[in-house]
Amino acid sequence: MSAPGLVDTHAHLMDAAFDADRDAVLARASAAGVAALVLVGYDLPTSRAAVELARRLPWARASVGIHPNSAAESTDQDFEAVASLARMPEVVAIGETGLDYYRDYTPPDRQRRALQWHLRLARELALPLIVHNREADADLVDALGAAAALGVRGVLHCFNSNDPMYLDTMLDAGYFVSLAGPLTFKDAADLRTIVARVPLDRLLVETDCPYLTPVPHRGQRNEPAFVRDTASCLAESIGLTFEALLERLWGNSLRLFPAFERPPLEVG
Ligand SMILES: [Zn+2]
Repeated sequence: MSAPGLVDTHAHLMDAAFDADRDAVLARASAAGVAALVLVGYDLPTSRAAVELARRLPWARASVGIHPNSAAESTDQDFEAVASLARMPEVVAIGETGLDYYRDYTPPDRQRRALQWHLRLARELALPLIVHNREADADLVDALGAAAALGVRGVLHCFNSNDPMYLDTMLDAGYFVSLAGPLTFKDAADLRTIVARVPLDRLLVETDCPYLTPVPHRGQRNEPAFVRDTASCLAESIGLTFEALLERLWGNSLRLFPAFERPPLEVG
């Protein structure tokens, strides 16, 4: 394998926020050493757009799903169309899905049913799950723990919890932990401490762009090039050199998303 590059494991590059300058954003990502991207859909149109963009970019793959906040407005046909997209060769994961009890766009019961739907699809296609969590630790532990017993694994995207019990339970269930911009925030000292509990073979990084811009770019739109800042902050937090962390993150990304390796991945 070629020298490892950075992997942004969660980017919404299909978002309208990038319509004016998507090619320039991609060029800056390459220049910053980003060698692979997972483009994550959050409803039917963005899932479709993620697959289409991944088809154009040899170093990108797609994840398809319906975010808990979009579940209420999505029809049964939307869910079925996402299930068909999930069978495309560009697709390496299911999501983002999960639970969001902070927002009330979708009633909690509907969110839990949508999550179960994604868990069944992930199991059927043997793909990992990309999980969003806001104030829903207990219900997620129940749902993901039960699915883990059936072989479903995935990643806790934008991990931002200071609860070691929740972290340990999800690690036991086989989950990876992906750090985003909030790790770099001034008030995130507790998060920078708790990440040291995550085994080196379970760590990932992401941008969640255009949201959650890391220090020192706060106030700007987030983009994949900035995943480098989150990775340096992570290396410093866990006492690893940047190069050693990069190698770990590369290996971890390919282990979680094995379908990524179908066509070859080249740095630069
Ligand atoms: Zn996201």
